[in-house]
Amino acid sequence: MLSILVYRSRSRSSMTPAELNQLVRTARGHNEAVGVTGILLFDGERFLQLLEGPESEVQAIYERLQNDPRHYQVVKLLQDYAPRRRFGQWGMRMIDVRTHPQGLADQSVSGSLLRGITALTNDRAFKITQAFATGHGQDHFTESSDPEQWCFTTRPSPFAQPDVSSHVPELCQFALQPIVDTTNGRISSLEALIRSRTGGPPQDCFEGLTQEQRYLFDLESKCQAFQLASQIDIGACKLSINLLPMSLVLIPGAINHLAEQVAQNGLKPQQIIVEITEEEAISHFDDFQAALKQLRAIGMSVAIDDFGAGFAGLSLLSRFQPEKLKIDRLLITDIHRDGPRQAIVRAIIECCRALGITTVAEGVETPEEWCWLQAVGIDLFQGYLFARPKLNGVPAVAWPVPV
Ligand code: C2E
Ligand code: MN
Ligand code: MN
Repeated sequence: MLSILVYRSRSRSSMTPAELNQLVRTARGHNEAVGVTGILLFDGERFLQLLEGPESEVQAIYERLQNDPRHYQVVKLLQDYAPRRRFGQWGMRMIDVRTHPQGLADQSVSGSLLRGITALTNDRAFKITQAFATGHGQDHFTESSDPEQWCFTTRPSPFAQPDVSSHVPELCQFALQPIVDTTNGRISSLEALIRSRTGGPPQDCFEGLTQEQRYLFDLESKCQAFQLASQIDIGACKLSINLLPMSLVLIPGAINHLAEQVAQNGLKPQQIIVEITEEEAISHFDDFQAALKQLRAIGMSVAIDDFGAGFAGLSLLSRFQPEKLKIDRLLITDIHRDGPRQAIVRAIIECCRALGITTVAEGVETPEEWCWLQAVGIDLFQGYLFARPKLNGVPAVAWPVPV
């Protein structure tokens, strides 16, 4: 099947037109042999390349291109199928945007490019190409810091280790995972993640319970999380807890119960962040709003968890604005080379900035992801790159340090 791929990247050096021509000549010979055509745009710093041809060949060329040392920050913008080639049959065509200051907006350039191709102006590949050539959307090329320039140094947890020898696990236990502020080298909060008696994952804890039992168990389990926080002496650090929104709505006196448990364990309500996921919150929003009011009244803050993973994220955000918004791992994974995820995450950050909401990136696993997220202004990070959850304790954190 005919497929199309568009990517952008940054050049390591500012190529002269002669060097650029040489590059394209070599590529053209190579690509023509396997039926791949397209265009390469260069503006002196950045490339935008469109490749069209059989899917496997386009993919193979893209794999190779990603490791080409002449460019870096290679980000895929589009991969799709098409009934026919958009940019003709002339192998690999090069457009030096510097010599066409108006780029594709210039009639002569676009005229010669688009000859014989109708209805192209509504085409996404064409629009992306045009935006690049006319200098629009250049702010999408954030220069993220180079992952090679950072090493990760592990510092032990500053918290006390709880005495687990006398500890008999009750119905459940908790693991703690730090949420870190890498700019200031500070743990912003510890997220309490529920574990079964034997250390199994959250689903093991809720398995076999009816819906009502689940809400009650969820609420009551939090007492264990507060005890753990008190044992390790979290000081001024915050504690994030996960709650099904309906646990707060359907159980009478739920919020007072939480407040009592917090106080009994020597914690302050201002230290508690309640993380909720969008699904239940939106389907029973009116009830949930009353619970929210109460949470705010006692001084706890709220975070929307797994933002972008469900179906109601924006609708929930339009109805209530939390202190924190946690961007789901699905959007974070491989963000440094994924154009659509970058555009979405940028929009989320911009929206949160306008609303005074702190952004957290969840599931950060690689230095490359962190470098990109940091450059676009994410405030806080959580993920295996820094620390995995630790059962009944706080893990050591790997902090980024410039080489
Ligand atoms: P969550 O609140 O989004 O918690 C983050 C989950 O992602 C945790 O899984 C954590 O171990 C995992 N994680 C953290 N960093 C990374 C990473 O870099 N890569 C990958 N692959 N995973 C990472 P866990 O502990 O299995 O929890 C799963 C979900 O269970 C939580 O997602 C939360 O929605 C729910 N949950 C946990 N504790 C409770 C609780 O006490 N009550 C309720 N209602 N739900 C809970
Ligand atoms: Mn959570
Ligand atoms: Mn989450």
